[in-house]
Amino acid sequence: MPGFMTSVAFFAALASLPFGLIVGSFANVVIHRLPLGESIVFPPSRCPKCRGAIRPWQNLPVVSWILLRGRCATCRQPISARYPAVELLHGLGFALIVWKFGPLPFTLLLLLFFFALVVLAFIDWDHQILPDVITLPGILIGLAGSLLPGALIDWKESGLAAGFGYLAFLLVAEGYARLRGIEGLGQGDWKLAALMGAFLGAQRLMLTVFLASLSGMTYGLIQAWRQRREELRLPEPVEPMPPSGPDPAAPDAAPIAPENSPLAAAREPVSIGKFKLPFGTFLAACAIFVLFFGDPILLWYASLFRFE
Ligand SMILES: [Zn+2]
Repeated sequence: MPGFMTSVAFFAALASLPFGLIVGSFANVVIHRLPLGESIVFPPSRCPKCRGAIRPWQNLPVVSWILLRGRCATCRQPISARYPAVELLHGLGFALIVWKFGPLPFTLLLLLFFFALVVLAFIDWDHQILPDVITLPGILIGLAGSLLPGALIDWKESGLAAGFGYLAFLLVAEGYARLRGIEGLGQGDWKLAALMGAFLGAQRLMLTVFLASLSGMTYGLIQAWRQRREELRLPEPVEPMPPSGPDPAAPDAAPIAPENSPLAAAREPVSIGKFKLPFGTFLAACAIFVLFFGDPILLWYASLFRFE
């Protein structure tokens, strides 16, 4: 009964959309509070600006933000569009995952995997950390989940890929530290690699790392170029001030910057090697991309090496 199964998958996907919106609302709380060491269950949601309590009807995912036109109901201060965006991302992501992978036990864990990736991506972007409380249980859930119907890989590959991800990142980090004397990949990244390996297997993990390096490097180059351009726009700090009295048009005219002032420091040339890149954000985003589109890319890649 393929028609029947298709409609079951369709309705399951439809039902996961509101579920995803609610989980997305919770994801916002985790992204905001977990790095600050605050409880994620208590107190209930408050406006980050005026600390005013948010009433239940103001806490409907996406809808409330639109009805309140992106402002707090109490203090009318703007509320970041990131909140409804994270909710919408989960609603659509959950529906697409259930539609693509079907209503199977492992699909529930894929929803959890998606949630973990989005939360880690935002926390790494904001704070440059990948908290153990998400990555470590995630690795265990991925390993155990490989025994469930619908798993993308079997338990042997899950274990091998998790270990491979962790060790490969450790070795790259060690090598980088020896060469340049600075930490390139933090230990959070090693655990994130293990988490992605446990769920996705070695091939999808390698594709994820490749795409994350490519997009991360592109982003880093653009940022470095922008920073350089900003610096060239700064006024020359060592130029002597005009001998005339204070210019009324520019009451806050900058004094001559001494050698070690922030203005002088900002003119140091940018080194891309020292550019702080939230690599976990790129890894997590690319893992979501690979979850949906990785298999056709890997099949195409394998076909390049197939000789008839
Ligand atoms: Zn407020």
